[in-house]
Amino acid sequence: MSVSTKMKELRQKLRENQYKLTPQRQMVLQAFLDHPNRHLSAEDVYSIVRDQSPDIGLATVYRSLELLSEMNLLQKIDFGDGRSRYEVAESGATHHHHHLICLDCGQVKEYDDDLLEGLEASISRKHRFTIVDHEVKFYGYCSQCQAKRDHEG
Ligand SMILES: [Zn+2]
Ligand SMILES: [Zn+2]
Ligand SMILES: [Zn+2]
Repeated sequence: MSVSTKMKELRQKLRENQYKLTPQRQMVLQAFLDHPNRHLSAEDVYSIVRDQSPDIGLATVYRSLELLSEMNLLQKIDFGDGRSRYEVAESGATHHHHHLICLDCGQVKEYDDDLLEGLEASISRKHRFTIVDHEVKFYGYCSQCQAKRDHEG
């Protein structure tokens, strides 16, 4: 999805909910659009937007992130390291990507292949449960960290 489409979507959603597109909110969303493959924490976003707007506060960034998540423009993710991350929500997408999380350096990779349709179908049948979505996280070591571990080991 293009940057301007996403901004338009933001403006419209804010208006529907009677919020204003303040420069701060716009900047926060822009930080994500400028870093499409990163999963940013509030601190990451803060350090990005502070470059353009030195007087923005961390609390404002937090509030904007919460608001954008409530509007489903951002998706909040927890990779188990005690810090919430956010990424741009894929609106209208039927399937969300999955994450590979390195336990050493914290790098997060995304992947799209999915072999879970068959599993979902069998779980659905067995438990008479209609599945609409799933979330998968794989924890391990990225190739660089694996090489380091092999070297040390
Ligand atoms: Zn790593
Ligand atoms: Zn992601
Ligand atoms: Zn999947």
